Amino acid sequence: MPTLDAALTDAMARFAEARPKTRAMQQRACEVMPGGNTRTVLFTQPFPVRIETGEGASLTDIDGHRYLDLLGEYSAGIYGHSHPRILAAARAALEKGLNFGGHHGEEVRLAEVVAARFALDLVRFTNSGTEANMMALSAARCFTGRRKIMPMQGGYHGGTLYFSHGASPVNAPFDCVMGEYNDIDATRKLIAEHADDLAAVILEPMLGGGGCIPASHDFLAMLRDETSRRGIVLIFDEVMTSRLHPGGLSASLGIEPDLKTLGKYVGGGMSFGAFGGSRAIMELFDPTRPNALPHAGTFNNNTLTMTVGAVAMTEVYTPEACIALNARGDRLRDRLNDLFMRYQVRMKAMGQGSMIAIHPTSGDIASPNDIEATDKRLRQLLFLDLLEQGVYIAERGFMALSLMVTDEDCDRVLAAVESHITARRELLV
Ligand SMILES: *Cc1c(COP(=O)(O)O)cnc(C)c1O
Repeated sequence: MPTLDAALTDAMARFAEARPKTRAMQQRACEVMPGGNTRTVLFTQPFPVRIETGEGASLTDIDGHRYLDLLGEYSAGIYGHSHPRILAAARAALEKGLNFGGHHGEEVRLAEVVAARFALDLVRFTNSGTEANMMALSAARCFTGRRKIMPMQGGYHGGTLYFSHGASPVNAPFDCVMGEYNDIDATRKLIAEHADDLAAVILEPMLGGGGCIPASHDFLAMLRDETSRRGIVLIFDEVMTSRLHPGGLSASLGIEPDLKTLGKYVGGGMSFGAFGGSRAIMELFDPTRPNALPHAGTFNNNTLTMTVGAVAMTEVYTPEACIALNARGDRLRDRLNDLFMRYQVRMKAMGQGSMIAIHPTSGDIASPNDIEATDKRLRQLLFLDLLEQGVYIAERGFMALSLMVTDEDCDRVLAAVESHITARRELLV
């Protein structure tokens, strides 16, 4: 029986063998970027895939391999790679001119669309989800006059707000009290302990990049209750999860936070972020008020994002399209779990709707700790095996369906995963 290490070494060797141009490009990249990389999550061993073009739901790498794109740019790429309506909107925006250095109508239109869709009294735009969360947290601190924030252990809110394995060394220096995702008693106790100096509680209503782990309704209801009673600002990071329901995941759960943050797909595939919600908090940014909070950003209202985002949200990712896409994701996840059950392998598909994560375990997964314990090598092996069969997912097992993914594509994914299972069965039981 081959060991896991041997299987992985062999899979990596085959990957490298089939990609001479990619290997050469990696060497070139290393001359000018540390490790040849400018976005850590995309780095994989032995070296990462390098994409030449994208079309519909497919990607082609610089060695000419074609993949079904199931990563969907970590949920930002919901429209696929060449949606005609998105392309037309982008062209129209380019024609009208970029970088006005002034107010314009498109930002008003996108603000109207986003505020209505996600039930926000007032909204402001940023260039990324990271910035949106930084601004929301800072706004909460100014609003409450308190210092500390509570993220969840294992939570991800951007490059400077990353709380996996404790906290990222490059995090913004907020004074943090770490909550425990889905642990009602422990987290309630921490909130009570720090209430006097706690400005905000921030979390995703379903952990996205953190493994597609939904928060229990009781956990979120506890947070809503405790924060309301104690004057703490509750922030839902819906950068990913807003795609799971026409009004975002909070609407589907019936629990409204004080502030929501958005990003990824809402900008139509362009750089985007937004934060908004409670009028009382957001009004602090009104420049006509004395001592208004400043909020800067050269590209906050860039015409490309504003124009394409509004078209994308009103004409492409309509409420109907949202419901259909999430139903397709639910079917795929159910079929994956049926497959794992049928072969009795230690694999499990988590998530909701169009967001799925495959984990190398058959145990219960309620918090990021349950994922920490799993074997990273099994994730790498699945990733490489799927690539070899022309299916592209995140190395950590994450996938996000785009609107271009068809039922036939889903059949292909099932077949690719099944062949991984049959080839590696001894390693997976
Ligand atoms: C991607 C993501 C962010 C960060 O957004 P960027 O645009 O990459 O800065 C924040 N929160 C969550 C939940 C995300 O998935």
